[in-house]
Parts: sequence; structure tokens; C-alpha cells
Amino acid sequence: MREIAQGITWMLGQGLDCNVFIIESEGESLMIDSGLGGRMNFGFGDQKRSIKILEEAIIHRKITQVLLTHGHIDHVGGIMALQSKLELDVITSEIEAQHLKSGDSSYIEPFMASTCSPIEISQEVFEGDVIHIGNFSFEVLHTPGHTHGSISLWDKKNRTLVSGDTVFPQGSFGRTDLRTGNSKDLVESLRRLSELEIQVLLPGHMSPVISTSGSPLGSVKQSFQNARMMLTHF
Ligand SMILES: [Zn+2]
Repeated sequence: MREIAQGITWMLGQGLDCNVFIIESEGESLMIDSGLGGRMNFGFGDQKRSIKILEEAIIHRKITQVLLTHGHIDHVGGIMALQSKLELDVITSEIEAQHLKSGDSSYIEPFMASTCSPIEISQEVFEGDVIHIGNFSFEVLHTPGHTHGSISLWDKKNRTLVSGDTVFPQGSFGRTDLRTGNSKDLVESLRRLSELEIQVLLPGHMSPVISTSGSPLGSVKQSFQNARMMLTHF
């Protein structure tokens, strides 16, 4: 766990697990995504340990709200495991919320046949909503493609993008072959994100990237170009 920029702490997602970010500013905090939470027991990292680390981070940093970028198990498993134990407000898009509230197992965990328990959602957000955390103001961008209700968060002032599984560093991007995935939508979402002047990229997997030169990162434009080439046939 380390602070990668002022007010932004990164918990590395090992193996299939996702990155967890903690945003803290002026006494307010928000956790972004929650990892697998010990749901998958095949050989990537020590899951029991990772749920303990997550729980301790929530308690020690007095985190009261968690935003889920989308409903896949590697992002929501931690909350599924901890919700009954801790007082946490869970925020996600209105579309993803429908799957999470009903415990839609084949949507949440497409790889395994195990059952997912429902997750209580406190706040359903939409395109254009703004989430304020101290000095951070995150605008909700609906960026479908990886799933139909995937959201990204854009803080224009700090030029910071939370991208979930829509866009990754080094020109890569999220898969579109799972339930509600859609290549055309993903390319369109990437086109939109490629127009932002991003200096801090906080992706769902791989390492976060921070521009050191002061100029915007070029990798999201690259992701858009690559996706357009690989996913569209016109
Ligand atoms: Zn995903």
C-alpha cells in the first residue's frame, strides 16, 4: 500500500485481483473498488491476507464509502465479504447496481459456478453526477463496453482518471467478451476518454501512471487507436 500522489493511495492487485485506490482529502475518504475478497482460491497471492489488509485499511483510515467501477468479482468481492461486518456506503452505477443487488452470479463471477450474495447499494450514480471528496471532484462518466454499466471517474482539476476495466496503461483496454460486453461501445468509450488531458491514470489492473513531464499521457489515445483497429471491422 503506498501513496502515489497527494491523497491517493494504491493497493496493488496481484494476479487477477484488481487495484484498490483510497482517495483522502480534508477528512473525507473514498475507496475505489474492493478486490476479490478471498473469493477465488486459485493460486494468485494470499487471498485471506488481502481481505485482512483491506479490512484494516477501512477501519484505520475510517473509510465509510466505497465506489465500484463495475460489478465483476475481482472488483466487488471485498465488499461482498465485508459488508455485513462494516458500515460502508456502496456507490455504483444504476445499471451495475441491478446485478449487484440481486446477486446475479453469472454476471458478477463469470468464470466460476459459485453463488454470489447480493450487495446492498446505498447510492446509484449516473453520467454527469459529481462525487466530492475534499479537494477532489470526480465526475461520473458512463463508459460502457467492458460491461454495460461500467463507470470511470474524471477529476478535471487534478487531471485524474479512474478507469476501472475500460482502459489500462500501455495502450491496452478491457475485454468485451463477458456478459453485456460490447466492442463498439468500448471503442466509443475509449474515444471519449482519449479526448481528456489525463495526467494521472488509475486503472483497475496494471500499475497506475503519472505524467512526470507535466504533459498529458498519450497512452489512452493509444488504447483507443489499438481498440479501434482490433475491435472494429469497418
Ligand atoms: Zn471487469
